[in-house]
Amino acid sequence: MAIKSVKEIKNLNGKKFLVRCDFDVPLDSNGQVADATRIEACIPTIKYLLENKALVAMLTKIGRPKDDKRTSTRVLLPTLEKLLKYKISWVPNLNYRANLDNLVLLENARFYPEEEKQDEAFAKKLAKPYDYYINEAFAMCHRKDASVSLIPKFLPSYAGFRLIKELEILTKLLKNPQRPFIAIIGGAKAETKIPVIENLAKLADKVLVGGKISLELGSSLLKLPRLLNSKDWKEGKDIGPNTIKLFTREISKAKTIVWNGPMGIFETPPYDFGTNQIAKAVSESSAYKVIGGGDTISAVSKIGLLDKVDFVSTGGGAMLALLSGRSLPGVGALT
Ligand code: ADP
Ligand code: MG
Repeated sequence: MAIKSVKEIKNLNGKKFLVRCDFDVPLDSNGQVADATRIEACIPTIKYLLENKALVAMLTKIGRPKDDKRTSTRVLLPTLEKLLKYKISWVPNLNYRANLDNLVLLENARFYPEEEKQDEAFAKKLAKPYDYYINEAFAMCHRKDASVSLIPKFLPSYAGFRLIKELEILTKLLKNPQRPFIAIIGGAKAETKIPVIENLAKLADKVLVGGKISLELGSSLLKLPRLLNSKDWKEGKDIGPNTIKLFTREISKAKTIVWNGPMGIFETPPYDFGTNQIAKAVSESSAYKVIGGGDTISAVSKIGLLDKVDFVSTGGGAMLALLSGRSLPGVGALT
């Protein structure tokens, strides 16, 4: 069964909505929002609900309260009020009461250990005050946190506009891409990237591999016919000139491109050279271009080419899970 869009709900007037947002944004040294991209991605759904006179509670996690310091969702209020142009009631816990204002922001879901322990009773209690649940947290959908994969057991559940768009674009990429379809995979986290390389080697016309993982591929992967691994490196910290030439030639022929993972230690020049050259080649290509991954986005943004890309996914891990052919628990829960 396909997931349903929030758009399909007929009468929203006076109905109470719990919206699982993804406001897990980076903070600056003063603890203020440093990049609001993820918040912006949730705004159309919240606005739509408010315009149709629904009562809305927003729920998110920020950071990893288990291993670093606790960040309250209160830091999000100025950014949210500015983007929504709406007064928000902040609640210091997860308890929603309908006599609060139309728009409520609940505290960090991960302050409650039950959230990550996937506690059903906790999910049931969270769901209780509402009429509907909306998932607008694509970046969380590969996880099984209670607020993502369990609340839908207890409420009629729908997908937000951004979640629908992420799924449409990434699914089309895998099922029906315009060819040649070129995948570019780099970065560092081998355990998440290897399954992506394996799956894309079946679906794409070429998989170009750079970054730290290009130094770590085992012999069975290196034998995959459509895989083009980096063939020269700059001190093991960046792809070399022959690889850049090879990769840019493939990129120039592409009709569809998906890119995740920098080609080198782009944070430390001159090892940003390979990543920048690939970013330029991608931005100059007339292909349909999708990128994702926190570091990839930051590398492309650093040289001012982000707006040359057709779609920037908000979900690093969730996007990689989809690209590796896995289904997402948060999405499965909505069907
Ligand atoms: P993304 O966040 O886009 O998914 P990753 O987190 O997988 O990307 O990888 C990004 C990290 O990989 C960056 O911090 C970058 O410095 C590192 N990296 C890339 N190439 C190398 C390399 N050859 N050696 C060490 N680290 C690398
Ligand atoms: Mg990263």
